[in-house]
Amino acid sequence: MTAKTTTSLSSSPAIREAKPVPKVGFVSLGCPKALVDSERIITKLRAEGYQVAPDYAGADVVVVNTCGFLDSAKQESLDAIGEALAENGRVIVTGCMGVEEGRIREVHPGVLSVTGPHQYEQVVSAVHDAVPPLHDPYLDLVPPEGLHLTPRHYAYLKISEGCNNRCTFCIIPSIRGDLASRPANHVMGEAERLVKAGVKELLVISQDTSAYGLDIRYAESTWKGAPLKAKFLDLSRALGELGVWTRLHYVYPYPHVDDVIPLMAEGKILPYLDIPFQHASPRVLKAMRRPAHQEKTAERIANWRKVCPDLAVRSTFIVGFPGETEEDFSFLLDWLREAKLNRVGCFKYEAVSGAKANELEGAVAEEVKEERWHRFMAVQQEVSREILAARVGTTIDVIVDEVDEDGATGRSKWDAPEIDGSVFLNGEPSLKPGDIVKARVDVADDYDLWATVAEKP
Ligand code: SF4
Repeated sequence: MTAKTTTSLSSSPAIREAKPVPKVGFVSLGCPKALVDSERIITKLRAEGYQVAPDYAGADVVVVNTCGFLDSAKQESLDAIGEALAENGRVIVTGCMGVEEGRIREVHPGVLSVTGPHQYEQVVSAVHDAVPPLHDPYLDLVPPEGLHLTPRHYAYLKISEGCNNRCTFCIIPSIRGDLASRPANHVMGEAERLVKAGVKELLVISQDTSAYGLDIRYAESTWKGAPLKAKFLDLSRALGELGVWTRLHYVYPYPHVDDVIPLMAEGKILPYLDIPFQHASPRVLKAMRRPAHQEKTAERIANWRKVCPDLAVRSTFIVGFPGETEEDFSFLLDWLREAKLNRVGCFKYEAVSGAKANELEGAVAEEVKEERWHRFMAVQQEVSREILAARVGTTIDVIVDEVDEDGATGRSKWDAPEIDGSVFLNGEPSLKPGDIVKARVDVADDYDLWATVAEKP
């Protein structure tokens, strides 16, 4: 279809009837949470006998799962809808931007239906209206773990939806609503099915992972004959028993996060925390209304590393937030040098329609944002280079993501797929995606490693 199409699914066994199988095309934009929504819709449709079309031409209808986080993402969503209409003509729109139905219909009056995020049933029913399902769906074509758009060896595990925080730059709570946690046994059931299907790495996601269970008062449910609380620590511990890599994303530094660090030190879950700090200056954090912000985060990270020396912290930051002074920015750079985060993403502040931050005074000029972004990246580059240089000569575990005739590309425990660095295993074309090997690190640059396999699975 286009580069935006995440993937097509494997073809099904021979179809035993004359009627053509209805085919649905998918364009999935946005974050992993939107990707999981797409997976749920696809799983339901496959259960009803639909197939996923790999291109516009082969699809009877196209579903575009949009992103509405930033204005640039909205424009990208509108462009994707336009492309699907031009190439196919029958388009169903869903996802975060779907809450702005008026704007979508103004630009693209020809779309068949528009729904917001996680309105799976409405999307499926819109597909029914556009292309009715076959009367004899082969229910057994759907594997018990559902269908996924990620490679077979890793999968996102969504533990809750929505968010109780109200960060001033973000409109996600108004799109996705307040925190709604899944019962712990549902999460564990899905995780176990994924592991049985061959998944080697679970990526735990939500809007606010460490707040998991707050809305359902940490309700107990029964898992493997014993009670399991819907609590960050209890769930992390249970996931750690599944024997695969478990990686925690979107964690805020609430005090109880300290409790999971020993699980990382014991090797139960990966020594990796994805904490979107967004800034370090207390003044800016206050204006952002960030959850769990406090002045001593660098000290806390240092304490976590005393318990788990291997811990990798990845984060994202915004520079040029309204009111950010040169003093605030210098504070952030000093903090970055002290905290020594392993992986960092940085965005220049962009106003989002409907966000409270638009009302704040002190807009930062574009050229100042640009200049700060470069200074920020230069500091982080030094930090990253130093951390990776210290890995040369050590032996590390590497999970293989891709293989071609020249060798394999994988990741260490300290790197998440898509967002972090890679480990290149040159001259290893016989490895398979999902293999976990031991490898000795030969070379490091600012962001990636090159290693030699020492022990194969
Ligand atoms: S924590 Fe803040 S940035 Fe994250 S989803 Fe909630 S409101 Fe948005």
